Amino acid sequence: MQDCLFCKFVRKELPAEIVYEDDTVLVFVDIKPNNPGHVLVLPKAHADTFADAPEESIQAIALVAQRMGRAVMKAFGATGFNIGVNNGQTAGQVIYHLHMHVIPRFEGDGLEHWHGKPYQDGEIAEVGQKIRNVLSLG
Ligand SMILES: [Zn+2]
Repeated sequence: MQDCLFCKFVRKELPAEIVYEDDTVLVFVDIKPNNPGHVLVLPKAHADTFADAPEESIQAIALVAQRMGRAVMKAFGATGFNIGVNNGQTAGQVIYHLHMHVIPRFEGDGLEHWHGKPYQDGEIAEVGQKIRNVLSLG
């Protein structure tokens, strides 16, 4: 897309600290990292969100994200990494070109995990049924 920031990185119209590129995927260093080595993995073909993207883009970025996770652990001596996708405004998506965050993790790095909220009695079965209903509608 013409005005998409990440498409401009893909077309090399704007500079990015690129660490990996192939025919379908681009990876560059996030300019506001959660930890040093935080990279963004995106399909070169524009898709607004994870939910909108074609399967081949999801497959391509997932495989590269695994490779990047291994790479940032080795490069920075990280002991783990997170992979995250913000899908939609309420989920914190800012740039509407699908991208996966790969964030190296270190002991005591201060990043917090999501806080879980327990279900009430019986509620989990209703939740499961709602999801199965939608899936069965195809
Ligand atoms: Zn784009």
